[in-house]
Amino acid sequence: MACNPRYDVLFEPVKIGPVTARNRFYQVPHCNGMGRGYPSSMAEMRRVKAEGGWAVVCTEEVEIHPSGDHSPWAGGRLWDDHDIPILARMCDGIHEFDSLAGIELNHAGRMSANRYSRQAPLAPSPIPVSAHDPVQARAMDKSDIRALRAWHRAAALRAKRAGFDLVYLYAGHHLSTISHFLSRRHNHRSDEYGGSLENRVRLFREVLEDTIDAVGDTCAVAVRFAVDELLGPKGITRDGEGRDVIEMLAELPDLWDVNISGWENDSATSRFKAEGFQNDYISFVKSVTTKPVVGVGRFTSPDTMVSLVRNGIVDFIGAARPSIADPFLPRKIEEGRPEEIRECIGCNVCVSGDQHFVPIRCTQNPTMGEEWRRGWHPDRIAPKVGDDSVLIVGAGPAGLEAARALGQRGYRVTIADAADRAGGRVARESRLPGLSEWGRVADHRLYTIGQMANVDLFLNSEMTAATIREFGADHAVLATGSVWVNDGRGRANPEGVAGLENAHILTPDDFMSGAEPEGPVVVFDDDHYYMGGLIAEQMRQAGHAVTLVTPANDVSSWTVDTLEQHAIQSRLMKLGVAIVTAHDLAGIGDGAATLTCVYSGQPREVACRTLIPVTMRLPRDQLAQDLRVMDTPPPFTVIGDAWAPGTIAAAVHAGHLFARDFGAPPGDGVPFRRELIELGQWPAT
Ligand code: ADP
Ligand code: SF4
Repeated sequence: MACNPRYDVLFEPVKIGPVTARNRFYQVPHCNGMGRGYPSSMAEMRRVKAEGGWAVVCTEEVEIHPSGDHSPWAGGRLWDDHDIPILARMCDGIHEFDSLAGIELNHAGRMSANRYSRQAPLAPSPIPVSAHDPVQARAMDKSDIRALRAWHRAAALRAKRAGFDLVYLYAGHHLSTISHFLSRRHNHRSDEYGGSLENRVRLFREVLEDTIDAVGDTCAVAVRFAVDELLGPKGITRDGEGRDVIEMLAELPDLWDVNISGWENDSATSRFKAEGFQNDYISFVKSVTTKPVVGVGRFTSPDTMVSLVRNGIVDFIGAARPSIADPFLPRKIEEGRPEEIRECIGCNVCVSGDQHFVPIRCTQNPTMGEEWRRGWHPDRIAPKVGDDSVLIVGAGPAGLEAARALGQRGYRVTIADAADRAGGRVARESRLPGLSEWGRVADHRLYTIGQMANVDLFLNSEMTAATIREFGADHAVLATGSVWVNDGRGRANPEGVAGLENAHILTPDDFMSGAEPEGPVVVFDDDHYYMGGLIAEQMRQAGHAVTLVTPANDVSSWTVDTLEQHAIQSRLMKLGVAIVTAHDLAGIGDGAATLTCVYSGQPREVACRTLIPVTMRLPRDQLAQDLRVMDTPPPFTVIGDAWAPGTIAAAVHAGHLFARDFGAPPGDGVPFRRELIELGQWPAT
């Protein structure tokens, strides 16, 4: 039970078919960029979640057959017995803490181009695969349907042998053959598997019954199902077939894990959706089934969680991102320290790791993905190894995280920042439209530091090389951040854009400091993340005529990997921002900017009185330069954006890395454990 009885209900055990979860905290399946590609890292990350108190810890999507091959995405794989040991390692780790291990079995059908296996993709009806590969899925005949059922059964039996307690069928994000059969848009069959909903549900029901028959004696059998695809009448809707499917199968599975699809809707960022954004869609489910229900919605507030259970909306608090940002969220509530929860900020940088086929990273939690390869734990850190004092200049994400982690180790730390408010770029950027939750990066660290007697923070304290030396700390850390350039330098124009010096220019820094534009505004976005689109949005909301120009083919193109690109471009278009893609900035004249098409070189002009170039940042490294030329400079290290401008996640990671390594002898070679591939036998036997 919890230290605070108000939260006791969250720690009640809940039965799921033949197994029992020790509390109501449920890590739903989530991708992590590690899967079968970095399996030791994946297994340790899941083990740490169980240690942190999640009663159910699930895999990501696990492929069951080469005809549903998601390569190069590194999800799970259970094609045959060779894949069992990786997943067994994960189960063993989860069982160390009496949590339940869940596996999400999936055949991805037309979502997989089968780039590795080179098999023909499968679908209920002929259709191109969803990736842009020039490949089509072929329509499954009855023998394919029988085969799919057999693959699911075999995978369920292997999952049981690996040690899983809970086996999922997946119809959560229109990413599975089961969901394609369910969908009127994708299923055009005229046999008993197509047409009426009863027929389209048939495969789902059969696989469910097969799975229960195969493993249901000892394993719970769960279903992940999207009750609404947010496609209106074209798709599954909460008040239509979403509800009908749950009514038809209500008591068959041992648990309903319900959400909305596609993935970009389910994992909506905080820029677009607030905590609990799925409640209205899923709240009916408990009235239709007696089986336990799990739902998600970026829940980080324990009081909200209690009300969800008490109001009968869910039985389990489902979480992917909140469990990534703080694997110890349940333990912190249980142990009476909920203020210490490192709340997810809803930025989806975690998703970008998966999209790039590398281990997951998290803006809030620098230890995510580092549990095995660097041995970083989200709640523990080695105590200090000496009595050195540290002065940190800059209270942005890098400086604050370095201070927090050094403070946790027991070092004497002083942070000085020139600004009147802590947080650095996070303090400024969280005032942009939709980014208020990003302020949690600073809030969490300021709260934690505030509890530490060995860490002092001084604002309005601009430091120079001389005052740093005078201060006399044993080591100085320069976390002084970066500044946006005003000359157009960046990817498209490494030497800058000629003539900008005579134009009316606002940099993103000027803009965030409250500078006002004149006349029509051109935002030139050669950065491709959120900043250009956000400035255009805010300018337009303020009533200016705004043109967003980018050399890319899409607005904010990198945000494809945070699942936001579509929403951003659509919002800007609806607001009336003029969008010019595939154009570079060539120059600026009287009242107009000259652009050139990146393909044809054809010039064109757009009205412009104020240009906002969002192209690149330079490290704010004057202090480092001044210290380097001193006769006897104090030892110092440059971290974060002051070292190399990047994401907030990278700055937090840099601060944490400094704190972990401080006092240790400098290493050489690869700074983390790698998962080395073993060569197969050759010649083949
Ligand atoms: P990062 O992302 O690397 O943490 P930020 O730009 O967010 O970097 O934060 C840098 C912080 O450093 C800002 O709050 C800024 O006010 C502060 N800063 C920069 N130069 C100095 C200086 N000379 N003395 C004190 N603070 C400084
Ligand atoms: Fe949340 Fe961002 Fe961390 Fe993902 S990366 S878990 S969205 S804070």
